[in-house]
Amino acid sequence: MRDRVERLRSLLDAHGVDALLVAQPENRRYVSGFTGTSGSALITASAAVFLTDFRYVDQAAQQCEGFEVVNHGNRWPQALAEQLAVHGVKALGFEQDYLTYGEVERLRELEGQVPGLRLVATSGVCESLRIRKDDDELRCIERAAAIADAAFEHILGFLRPGLTERDVALELEVFMRRQGATGPSFDFIVASGWRSALPHGVASDKRLEQGDLVTLDFGCVFEGYVSDITRTVVLGEPTDEQRRVYEVVLEAQRLALEAARPGLTGVELDAVARRFIEEQGYGEAFGHGLGHGIGLAIHEDPRVSKSGEMVLEEGMVVTIEPGIYISGWGGVRIEDDIVLTSDGSRVLTKAPKQLISIR
Ligand code: ZN
Ligand code: ZN
Repeated sequence: MRDRVERLRSLLDAHGVDALLVAQPENRRYVSGFTGTSGSALITASAAVFLTDFRYVDQAAQQCEGFEVVNHGNRWPQALAEQLAVHGVKALGFEQDYLTYGEVERLRELEGQVPGLRLVATSGVCESLRIRKDDDELRCIERAAAIADAAFEHILGFLRPGLTERDVALELEVFMRRQGATGPSFDFIVASGWRSALPHGVASDKRLEQGDLVTLDFGCVFEGYVSDITRTVVLGEPTDEQRRVYEVVLEAQRLALEAARPGLTGVELDAVARRFIEEQGYGEAFGHGLGHGIGLAIHEDPRVSKSGEMVLEEGMVVTIEPGIYISGWGGVRIEDDIVLTSDGSRVLTKAPKQLISIR
């Protein structure tokens, strides 16, 4: 974690602050290693202080290497004020996209209490460090991806008409926890039949029926890092149209996987899959972005979409997930997680992608 603190320090000047208060859970974990749910890291040019309460003092002392741990004793603003005064902080950055209005108001009160203190709203400081993954982070994501792959193999033997979508989501989660996952990475999408036309059709009480396309979008958390995979299967023999839509999505995904490399913007990579789907006559039916970054959070930068202006770089981990959704008929999505390498990309999720019919 020490090098992360150093990298964060190197950004302070550019954001016009001499200290940053990091409270957003993923950012806090990233810079300090703290896995608890309450606390904040204060990073100055020369100090790293972790403020938390009685419940987490011992845990923080174990996890936050290189940090001075301070028990704020539920006098959080006062304890912070003392630290700011001790370390001579004049311009304190806070995370404008995370803190509540009330929390900012409480911080504002410190401006009158700490001589010369000024608050500065910042955005995306830690997030900019989290975009490129180091080897330890990649190992965690790969493990989360491998557990999700195993869960897909497992669920193929479990799916059958009559189950509810919720039954399927629960089975996926229990299986992945047994394999060492600490939890699901989001509310799973299990969307069958007409519901598979809902890109975010979270598992419902609908029962699976013969002939349904079933979209399974799931993943797990391992050591804080997530995986995110989608496969679509069919219950019984696929119709010609189901086959055709599936092949279009699969080919769009293959083209995007092949094109993915550093130097492209998210917009350009998105366009590779989008152009193919449009050429096949389904442009209107692909209404979301091609992918998104994953890491400690399930949706993070860079975005691989029509608005993803960021240039892709080695070490970034993104999803590639084209889909076609036809209202009342159903839909298909195929999603993998990839890491950008020096000359291309490597696919982390390896579950099979040919159209599987469950009999
Ligand atoms: Zn997904
Ligand atoms: Zn996704």
